Amino acid sequence: MKIYLERTLSTCPTQLKCVACTQPFEVEKIRSILYDRTGLIQGDLCPTCRSAPDLQEKLQTTEAIRRPKLYQWWFKRLTILSEATQEIESARRGTRSCNCQKPRQIRIRFQENDR
Ligand SMILES: [Zn+2]
Repeated sequence: MKIYLERTLSTCPTQLKCVACTQPFEVEKIRSILYDRTGLIQGDLCPTCRSAPDLQEKLQTTEAIRRPKLYQWWFKRLTILSEATQEIESARRGTRSCNCQKPRQIRIRFQENDR
């Protein structure tokens, strides 16, 4: 089994039920979706179960679970942040579009406890 990180779309409900503990939880900006070996979606994981050491037991599976690496989290967060920045920027510019296409310097600071 594998946990994939997906950007939460605006069409996604704000509450989902966790596939491991069956508890409803608030959806964050990134969804943790559990897939089985064959690539079938098993469901969403809540933040608690996502990092629970006994996740395999909770899911009652003998299959090893591959979790996303820390850098994959960073990367997903950065992608979402930069997408959001571009959306704000294009909204600010309105219909007057600029053709210069200069790469923007985006500086993002993470807080220590945000990992
Ligand atoms: Zn859970």
